[in-house]
Amino acid sequence: MDFQLSFEQQMILDYGQNLAQTYGSDYWREKSMVQEFPQELWRQIADDGFLGVMVAEEYGGAGLGITEMALLIEGLSGAGLPLFMMVVGPTMVLGLLDHHGSDQLKQRYLPDGCSGEKVFCFAITEPNAGSNSMAITTLARADGAGFLLSGQKSFITGADVADYALVVARTTPLKEAARKTDGFTLFMVDLKAPGVTIRPMDIPVMIPEKQCEIFFDGVKLGSEQVVGEVDCGFAILFDVLNPERIVVAAMAVGLGRYALRQAVEYAGDRQVFGAPIGSHQGLAHPLAHSHTEVEMAALMTYKAAANFDQGAPAGAEANMAKYFAAEAAIKAVDASLQVYGGAGFTREVGLLDLYGLVRLLRSIPVSRELLLNYIGEKVMGLPRSY
Ligand SMILES: Cc1cc2nc3c(=O)[nH]c(=O)nc-3n(C[C@H](O)[C@H](O)[C@H](O)COP(=O)(O)OP(=O)(O)OC[C@H]3O[C@@H](n4cnc5c(N)ncnc54)[C@H](O)[C@@H]3O)c2cc1C
Repeated sequence: MDFQLSFEQQMILDYGQNLAQTYGSDYWREKSMVQEFPQELWRQIADDGFLGVMVAEEYGGAGLGITEMALLIEGLSGAGLPLFMMVVGPTMVLGLLDHHGSDQLKQRYLPDGCSGEKVFCFAITEPNAGSNSMAITTLARADGAGFLLSGQKSFITGADVADYALVVARTTPLKEAARKTDGFTLFMVDLKAPGVTIRPMDIPVMIPEKQCEIFFDGVKLGSEQVVGEVDCGFAILFDVLNPERIVVAAMAVGLGRYALRQAVEYAGDRQVFGAPIGSHQGLAHPLAHSHTEVEMAALMTYKAAANFDQGAPAGAEANMAKYFAAEAAIKAVDASLQVYGGAGFTREVGLLDLYGLVRLLRSIPVSRELLLNYIGEKVMGLPRSY
């Protein structure tokens, strides 16, 4: 067991701080206030070779794993640059294609994904299914050699700027499937194809990405757009969902550290009643408590990532990491807000906006309750409640 980062991993973790010299938190905040995709920042990350962290070198990537992607996202968030597009595109879609795409799919999408020429999003959520993904009804019906896709997705991050979506659909409706996990198929869908309509949703969380509804109305798909095997998508679904949980945990860790760093600096500077406010244990202990929790969340995140990279089961660790990291980040931002008194609520300090963001991480991409259900039932063996 080795708890040290390699030189390369440390460099990846530090990248966010370096990038923030050019694209600081002010840039991120300006983009977030108008919910405009940060094109210049994205281009820079692409040019620096970080979009393809998880993609094999032969397709234009760095050939590294989820551990390095988690470090990258932790570092970006720790520098005040959290990006959900890094989660959905480079981690989920490119990572899955690299693991499970046909050679044809890899050639077609991975080099453009790594260079930033093409942008990718991920679509599973549907209004009527919610957390119960088994109940999705978006259907790709066989049509000659291909499929016709119809249905609706909601809350899809970055669909307005993405070129392609990795869409989770049913090729066998739930009521016709022998088991509820049968009948899923994953497709790469061109978002400019006829029959695709994208509508941004009004979600006032301070992030630069928009969330969108996507409507599919008889969209023609070729069989070469299938990722994995028809009707067997469930077998690879968790190779996209566990990485998502791991990097969202990493994002929460970074955001917790970012808030605490600011709060500690302020607590040392700000004098009230003739003493720095950080000398009062009423403020210091919650910060110390949160620091401990954020660092513990980081450890579980690294363990989940290491398991995934080694091909070992990572579900339990990924779920525990995401659960605990979100809770730790919420507490860290809350404690930091308290340190700032009234100043914490100013736009300039930005902690109230950050609170909204870390609070979001309790609910998405998978909610606290669903994570605890998994841990109770699948990890601990408690009876299922639903
Ligand atoms: C900003 C944002 C970005 C998003 N980006 C994407 C994206 O890019 N792609 C995508 O596919 N989706 C995306 N989503 C959707 C997100 O993954 C879902 O919102 C999330 O999975 C929760 O589903 P839901 O909103 O339908 O809640 P519901 O499933 O309706 O749940 C509502 C509440 O009920 C609780 N609940 C439900 N069932 C149980 C149970 N059995 N036991 C205990 N409690 C339960 C839940 O925990 C939750 O608190 C995004 C959402 C947001 C807000």
